Amino acid sequence: MSEAQAIQDAALQYQCPPQGLLDRIILVTGAGDGIGRAVSLALADHGATVILLGRTQNKLEAVYDEIKKRGGPEPALAPVNLEVATPADYAELAGLFEGEFDRLDGLLHNASMLGEITPLDHYPTGTWNSVMQVNVNAQLQLTQALLPLLRQSEDASLLFTSSGVGRQARAFWGAYAVSKFANEGMMQIFAQELDKTSSIRVNSINPGATRTRMRAAAYPGEDPQSLPAPADLVAPYLYLLGPASQGVNGQALDAQRK
Ligand code: NAP
Repeated sequence: MSEAQAIQDAALQYQCPPQGLLDRIILVTGAGDGIGRAVSLALADHGATVILLGRTQNKLEAVYDEIKKRGGPEPALAPVNLEVATPADYAELAGLFEGEFDRLDGLLHNASMLGEITPLDHYPTGTWNSVMQVNVNAQLQLTQALLPLLRQSEDASLLFTSSGVGRQARAFWGAYAVSKFANEGMMQIFAQELDKTSSIRVNSINPGATRTRMRAAAYPGEDPQSLPAPADLVAPYLYLLGPASQGVNGQALDAQRK
């Protein structure tokens, strides 16, 4: 078995101990809904303090309330619209986190937008720019702002969210697919640049078909009940964002068995 396959198996089979993420401080983007919500709840269930970043305040507050109800550590809220936020906004955010926490142990880039399913030939420029802003530019700029805090951790994890169409392109998936290829490229470059010069590991995860709003928008004719729920695929996220994956760097993993 190859090393990559062994890591993939370890991620899929991972059973996080009850307090396996105790005292970790982890920021999740798109934490108010879908996979980001489920991963945020699971991180908190295992002891992590989660910084919930998203654009819809009431969704973030609902996740906050749910974490508190389940007895998790008090989360922090970061209402940010990644489509319009600027590097100055991210710098301000990083300053706020620095005042509250002395470090960041994990950053999960999960938020993204689908854009339109249409041929590249006709792809609308405005939608293209929005998708690239949210799915690519914002991820770079947020990472740049938070790297000093990630560097303060003895064991930090930077995790990008990929997609099947970000590894093998598919007709009509337009800006979304191109943005996911860009995420994979960004992951590989950060993984090389941070290797041996920091204790930050960098990987990507493809959730696979999952019962969320985004999936329903992409496949309106599909029965959502035929798909796993977000809560069913949190194990590989806990593996990649927690101490179990120390030393795993530059890997492109799947959250579901293919
Ligand atoms: P989702 O339910 O639509 O959740 C996406 C999240 O991103 C939402 O919380 C949304 O906030 C947030 N978001 C979108 N635009 C934003 C912006 N401008 N600023 C801040 N937050 C923003 O989708 P999901 O399926 O959970 O997707 C999570 C990740 O998995 C994405 O990266 C997606 O590409 C990837 N993925 C999903 C599947 C699947 O089958 N579901 C498959 C492959 C990859 P609001 O709730 O406020 O809109």
